[in-house]
Amino acid sequence: MAWHVNILTLFPEMFPGMLGHSLAGRALERGDWRYDALNIRDFAQDVHKTVDDTPYGGGAGMVMRPDVIEKVLLSIESPGRKIYLSPRGKPLDQALVKTLSAAPVLTLLCGRYEGVDQRLLDAQGFEEISIGDYVLSGGEPAALILMDACIRLLPGVMGNEATPDEESFADNLLEYPHYTRPAAWVSGDGATHLVPEILQSGHHEKIRQWRREQALKITQERRPDLLTKK
Ligand code: SAM
Repeated sequence: MAWHVNILTLFPEMFPGMLGHSLAGRALERGDWRYDALNIRDFAQDVHKTVDDTPYGGGAGMVMRPDVIEKVLLSIESPGRKIYLSPRGKPLDQALVKTLSAAPVLTLLCGRYEGVDQRLLDAQGFEEISIGDYVLSGGEPAALILMDACIRLLPGVMGNEATPDEESFADNLLEYPHYTRPAAWVSGDGATHLVPEILQSGHHEKIRQWRREQALKITQERRPDLLTKK
């Protein structure tokens, strides 16, 4: 069965967006995954199609109404894991991506304005997931990023294009450096840059060891926090 994502959004035309191209696009065409982008505004009850209102307690901006979003949710037969994309959420990492790509159905709620009425999130049991410590103008780009990371892990999607076990964050390590032809590259300033000799040796065990050492070194330098992660 195809991995299925319901997306609650005010901008359904943003989907599949970048996911209609390349690896994810081909997987969509093959039917490895599918999505329903539901326009929250279609479920508004009044003539003006209102989806937001001013915040109780005052302050800037608008808040998305719980009653309208609940109506969208009730229209979905099996919502599966309900996720609100939010800067307050659990940080998205590769371990979380793995569990999300293994869930048969996800329902992603994309916020706009100041966000969503808290009562809706509590009553519907949404988990909150953040794609990083910065604030986007809406949840749609976050949903696309989460989906992209999941889609490439679906069975058969990557083929031989990559090996998830060797990529960054497998074993909590960043990936080793890559090199390709030419073996001696003369850059525009006349300098010659050589590919490390070991990679041309054909000695698989030594290459594996070298890559592991490089991965450890790069992780130590750039993300020592990963090395203490369980
Ligand atoms: N007032 C909110 C706050 O300070 O936490 C920010 C609201 S933001 C302008 C609008 C929407 O963008 C959010 O409701 C959320 O859905 C989405 N969003 C913004 N940053 C995000 C992030 N880092 N990860 C996931 N979603 C994000």
